[in-house]
Parts: sequence; C-alpha cells; structure tokens
Amino acid sequence: MIPYGRQDIIAEDIEAVISVLNSDYLTQGPKVPEFESEVAKYCGVKFAVAVNSATSALHIACLALGVKEGDYVWTSPISFVASANCALYCGAKIDFVDIDSQTYNLSIDKLKQKLELASRNGSLPKVVIPVHLCGQSADMKEIHALSLKYGFRIIEDASHAIGGRYLDKRIGSCEYSDITIFSFHPVKIITTAEGGMALTKSAQLAEKMDLLRSHGITKDPQKMTKESDGAWYYQQVELGYNYRMTELQAALGLSQLKRLDQYVLKRHELVCYYSSLLSGLPLVTPYQSVESFSSYHLYPICLDLNQVTVSHSEVFEFLRGREIGVNLHYIPIHLQPYYEKFGFKKGDFPIAEKYYQSAITLPLYPRLSKDNQKYIADSLREILC
Ligand SMILES: *Cc1c(COP(=O)(O)O)cnc(C)c1O
Repeated sequence: MIPYGRQDIIAEDIEAVISVLNSDYLTQGPKVPEFESEVAKYCGVKFAVAVNSATSALHIACLALGVKEGDYVWTSPISFVASANCALYCGAKIDFVDIDSQTYNLSIDKLKQKLELASRNGSLPKVVIPVHLCGQSADMKEIHALSLKYGFRIIEDASHAIGGRYLDKRIGSCEYSDITIFSFHPVKIITTAEGGMALTKSAQLAEKMDLLRSHGITKDPQKMTKESDGAWYYQQVELGYNYRMTELQAALGLSQLKRLDQYVLKRHELVCYYSSLLSGLPLVTPYQSVESFSSYHLYPICLDLNQVTVSHSEVFEFLRGREIGVNLHYIPIHLQPYYEKFGFKKGDFPIAEKYYQSAITLPLYPRLSKDNQKYIADSLREILC
C-alpha cells in the first residue's frame, strides 16, 4: 500500500536518538530546551514549550488563556477532533465556524456573521482556534482584526503547517495570534514520533504553559507562594499534567528540523507534478491563496460528482483496491457521535459537509516517487473517465 503520509528517517536521526540513549538524561535534560530554542529561532518567536503531543499543546494553550466552564471556544469543523476536544477538556463549550469553499479553512465571512450574532446574544467566544488545513494558513490578519473588535484570543492550530509562511512571516511567529501549536506525529511535516509544541511571544503565557506541562510544579523561589523549606523544596502552584517531551523525541526533532525546508520544497515539487498529472480530470486540486506559502502536509482533491457516473465512496474504494492508501481529512467534527450529543446535526455547517462528500486525500510525503504519483493519477483517470 502506498500510504497517504509517511515519516522520513535517515541514519543521522537514528544516531541522534542513540546518542541520547547513551547519555545521562532520557528526560528533562538538555535536548528539549535545545529543540525549543531551535524551533523558536526558526519561526522568529520568543518562546516555545515542547510537549508530548499537539493535543497536549492545545490543552495547555487553552488553559493558559483561561478557558474554563461557561466559556465558548470556536474552531473549524474540518479538522482533527483534537482541535475541538481541547475546549471540552477545560469544561468549555465548543462551537464551529463553517469553512471557505476555496481554501477549506475557517470562513472569514461566516466568522463575521457568527460574531455579530454572538455579540447580540452575549455568547462571544473566549478563544477562536483557526486550523491551517493542509499547511495553508487561515486568513490570520482578518481573524486578528476581528479579535480586537470582539475581544477573543487566538490559538493557531498549525499541526499541519510548520515550515509554511503567511505574508512575510513564518507560521509560528504568532504575529496574529496568542499561541501557535505544532504536531510532530509521524505523518506531519517533521516528526518526534509523538510530540508537539506551543509557541508564543508572551513570557507570561510561556511560563504558564511550562508549569502546566509538568504538574504545576515550580522550583523557582520567585514563583513560590511561601518561603522555601530548604534546597530540596518545590511547590505545586497550579493543577498541571505530565505532558513532557522526552530527550529521545527532542533529539529526533532537532535532527529532523535540519531538513524541514528541504521537505517543504520537496512537497511543493510533488504537488506541482500532481497538478500537471491531474489536469483535465473532473476534480478540483487544492487552491492556494497568494498570501500563503503552504507546507503541503496534505493533498485533498474534491471530485466533481456531477460530471462522473461513480460515487465518492466507489472512487475511494477503487483506489484503496489499487493499494493506494487514500484517506479523508476530515469527517466534520460536528457529525461525530460524541459531538452530536451537544445538539450538532447534519446541515449545521453545509460547506464543510459538502466538502466531506467529495474530498479524497491523495498520498503526499517526501519520499513519494514520481512513478507512484503517475500510477495514482492513472488510476484516478481510469475510474473517473
Ligand atoms: C495531528 C493533528 C492534531 C493532533 O496532533 P497530535 O500531535 O497527534 O496530538 C491536532 N490538530 C490537527 C489539525 C492535526 O492534524
């Protein structure tokens, strides 16, 4: 099976991990802060907090921004469930903003309308979480302007988007947000096996997230609420978690980070080849906004079902039958049984639902061969034409 995404591990990565195994620290050593500072430097942001997953990063980002019971958090229905679950972890309520039919990112028009309505109902969100779907940035400038008008905070779910750019800045710079989070799951752009990171310009938010990832415990006398009992002393000042990244993961991440730009360029090359292979077929390839330089984590095509005699699932199953590991990113979150319990139903976010009825994610990863791309395109042509 040709997978839809796959990590790229080279001898250098393996050596980096082995050298940690031979060192004094498997966790809480020098590699994690080094990885944090390298990612922060790369993104042009002051602070980075490494954690064991992007899901954990989203959770502590919400907590650091004060999300709690009674608050609303809004995100895109076309995302991985973690983008919404983080609000529920904090006891907050979740709501969604429908997507833009071109970029599949959260729609600015829909966001404006929903904010207008919410400001009349007194149900404005505390935090909005735009998701940079497939690696293409959401329209952050507009979202930021709306945050000033309506008083909400912003977490960028950039799980797909490390190595991408928006306007003249790298994604992760937090130019238009409070916090940006990355994922280092193996299918993402660079990997630490499991892992994630939260970036911010704010020393205060960074400090809060640092506490929350490690039990809410501090050894810094400045942050203690009473005098130290002695040299062994530490204090728990918050209810935190164990969301720490290990040294092995950080060493792998540091080694992968060196090839980040190379990976993104390679993905652009592959996308370029797909575009030429797929032109003329009854489908839409991913639209790219001029403001964004995508990291191209995913390559979803949307079938033009009016022009073909086969159904969406027939095409999907045909490709899987051809050993092509197509996927679908994503099932609209509001249609998940767990979310239907909150009253969401079919028809709530029609653009997201329409996208879901025609989208298929084609394989895309740095080591995908041209021959395989050609085979994938030929298979599509066979079933569609
Ligand atoms: C992968 C992903 C996550 C979760 O990442 P983990 O590191 O696996 O926790 C969150 N949001 C989006 C959009 C993702 O694609």
